[in-house]
This record gives sequence, structure tokens and C-alpha cells, in this order.
Amino acid sequence: MFLNKNNQYAVECYTQVSNDCLKNGEYCDSEEEAEYWVEEECWIFSGEGWFCNNCNRHFMQNLTQVRRVKGQEPPSDDDLYKGIETIL
Ligand SMILES: [Zn+2]
Repeated sequence: MFLNKNNQYAVECYTQVSNDCLKNGEYCDSEEEAEYWVEEECWIFSGEGWFCNNCNRHFMQNLTQVRRVKGQEPPSDDDLYKGIETIL
């Protein structure tokens, strides 16, 4: 979940599913700081790892499309989070 380069740590995007995936957060002096950085950037923690805003948006768009095909109401935020857990 962490990348380590020259004693600098960065959180790696867990899914890297989006074409514009950020791949990893900023390199910091410690794992704690690296994790704090992605928290500040509103990355999502899935339980197994962090994924970046762009991958999060990718999931949201896919979920919305699936719902539309089925002719359902747009999902609430709660449903989107449940959907993400299902995909992961
Ligand atoms: Zn990503």
C-alpha cells in the first residue's frame, strides 16, 4: 500500500482502474504523513487500500451508468459507497 523511494513514502492507489489514475500520492517523510496527504486529498479508503479521486470518479460513473440502464432512480451517496465495496 506504501511506496518507498529514498526513505520517502507515498500511498499507492489500490485499484489504478481509471485512465487518469494518479497512481500514488505525494512522497512524504513517513507513512503517516503520506496517509495524511491522501486523506486531505479525499482519497477513499476501501478497507484493503486507498484509491485516488480519479478512480473513485470512475467507479461513480460506472455505477451511475449501470443504474440508468436498469431504469432506476439515481443512487443515493450511501448506495454508491455500497456499490464501490461490491466492486472491490
Ligand atoms: Zn487511482
